[in-house]
Amino acid sequence: MSTTASTRTPLSPTPRSTVTRLKDRARTDRADLDAVLDAGLICHLGVVLGGSPVVLPTVYGRDGDTIYLHGSTGAGNMRAACTGDISLAVTHVDGLVYARSAMHFSMNYRSAVVRGRPVEITDPDQRLHALQVIVEHAAPGSWDRVRPPSKKELAATIVLALDLTEASVKIRNGGPGDDPSDIATGGVWAGVLPLQQTWGTPIPSPDLDPGIETPTTVLDRTTAAPAMV
Ligand SMILES: Cc1cc2nc3c(=O)[nH]c(=O)nc-3n(C[C@H](O)[C@H](O)[C@H](O)COP(=O)(O)OP(=O)(O)OC[C@H]3O[C@@H](n4cnc5c(N)ncnc54)[C@H](O)[C@@H]3O)c2cc1C
Repeated sequence: MSTTASTRTPLSPTPRSTVTRLKDRARTDRADLDAVLDAGLICHLGVVLGGSPVVLPTVYGRDGDTIYLHGSTGAGNMRAACTGDISLAVTHVDGLVYARSAMHFSMNYRSAVVRGRPVEITDPDQRLHALQVIVEHAAPGSWDRVRPPSKKELAATIVLALDLTEASVKIRNGGPGDDPSDIATGGVWAGVLPLQQTWGTPIPSPDLDPGIETPTTVLDRTTAAPAMV
């Protein structure tokens, strides 16, 4: 869910967020960052916990220039993220690239990395907004249908905001980059096996009240085409 437009901050404004390896795959258009983030369901969140790095999957949501994260007050990675720098990655694999040699096998992908120091949100209204953004990111059309968070649930939840000013995007597409000598030798299949994610048929909860229809916001996703950049 992106409820407000981003400010179109240029990507890679710092040395540590500038792609140095295979620079031709780097994107500098802010729209590419938004597209990769908005198409993702989860991110991988890297924090330093007890002096050692750990990377854990978690959900997120984007609103304009901000990524929101949430987690239990009992979660070590969330507590670490309240006090230190984090790195957050979103990755989409679009295909497997079969080459004529083992070392040229590759993947087509879209990936984004965001670095920075998140801010813990304490303002009650901002916390609710952030949680709405996260829920709507994963399950659009759901926030207004369901019970809002209780005071007890909110008290047990850390909500973080991460600015998108230090971010990078790398995208690979196309076929194998085989050596000319391997192409000349021939005799080996090479090409791309595309990979697409699709939603399955919704499975109603067994304890559902009779007569409750599957929301259109759920049904609509089962026929939606996969997002591509
Ligand atoms: C699905 C997938 C599979 C990959 N497999 C391999 C592999 O097997 N071996 C391998 O060496 N590399 C692989 N990569 C690329 C890998 O992510 C790095 O880009 C690469 O290893 C270069 O690392 P580096 O530290 O030299 O990057 P640098 O270019 O020096 O990184 C500098 C900065 O550029 C940005 N950056 C770097 N990589 C990415 C990225 N992928 N997406 C967004 N921003 C980025 C970050 O902000 C980083 O801090 C893969 C990427 C994807 C998405």
